[in-house]
Amino acid sequence: MKITFPHLGNTYIAAKLFFDSIGADYVIPPVSSREALKIGSMYSPEEMCLPFKIMMGNYIQAIEKGADTVLIVGSCGPCRFGEYCELQFKILKKLGYKVNFIVLDYKEDIGKEELLRRIGSILEDSKVNNRLKIKGALRALKSVKLMDDIEEKAHWLAGYEVKKGECKRLLNHCKKEVLLTNDPKKALSILKTYRSELKKVKIDKNKDPLKVSIMGEIYTIIEPFSNLYIEDKLMDYGVCTKRMLTPSWWIKDAFLKSFKLNSIKLRIASKKYLPIYIGGHARECIGEAVLSHKKGFNGAIQIFPSGCMPEIVSKAILPSIAKDENFPIMSLVMDEMSGESGYITRIEAFLDLLERRKEKCII
Ligand code: SF4
Repeated sequence: MKITFPHLGNTYIAAKLFFDSIGADYVIPPVSSREALKIGSMYSPEEMCLPFKIMMGNYIQAIEKGADTVLIVGSCGPCRFGEYCELQFKILKKLGYKVNFIVLDYKEDIGKEELLRRIGSILEDSKVNNRLKIKGALRALKSVKLMDDIEEKAHWLAGYEVKKGECKRLLNHCKKEVLLTNDPKKALSILKTYRSELKKVKIDKNKDPLKVSIMGEIYTIIEPFSNLYIEDKLMDYGVCTKRMLTPSWWIKDAFLKSFKLNSIKLRIASKKYLPIYIGGHARECIGEAVLSHKKGFNGAIQIFPSGCMPEIVSKAILPSIAKDENFPIMSLVMDEMSGESGYITRIEAFLDLLERRKEKCII
């Protein structure tokens, strides 16, 4: 069995660490790119959302490198994500690829026994004992948290750094270096080193950079190719960004969901505008918009793929929050036709607006 998985931000680092720990065979798909999107779009239903198409491209590129099993998390929520694995499996089968899918759904949806059976099928080729398998899973979880901390710090400090580009340089080096080792212990130590390095970045506390919250559909905001690397661009502009929805947030949220203790602050914040769950992370997006204003951000950018049902609903609600709170929010809709130049123009115009509002407040 040779496992692959779709890209979702830096989660491939945790997956690599885990499979290296248990001695499993795996293929990391090439980084998501125009090529992956082109392949995915060719074989996906036209009206399907962008994440589906990029994932299809990831699978096909990985299958061509020898992968025969796709590992993906599932959701039975009321949006298309619940249908992804079924449809992707059928399309790949129709194309003649002999591939198996392992879908990790919520325990509440598929039952404890079925979930354990699916986890067991990931581990079936592993020769290591159970203690090492558990250690591998814990190390992978640790790497998710470390990588999220590193990214969060880099994205925030980019607004304050004295030497322009220092945070971005460290972040990129970290991602490259951690991939060079197959030793999970060393990988964790590399991540810890970079986390400490970021703490040493020289900052200018007198700076007052723009602070922008990034929110929207979870895949599109986490997977950088699907948002045309917006966080990197904002780092170049010296803007501090914060994204609440990260892989470690998702893991914590999924765990606490069983006890109905997940995302309490976001749920409370969204209550006035969207009191029920409508699928995807629309409710979180609304909660984030309200909280971002309270936390003193200058503005927020919502990003979602064209045709994303839950985020279309939040997009319709966001202008009310913007008006009630006098808080600028821009929505960016991504699809396979999205081009760099128009996108950059919109981002620059929005930053310009935020800068002028900030100056007005100071005067
Ligand atoms: S949240 Fe939106 S983009 Fe994601 S699967 Fe659902 S409809 Fe598609």
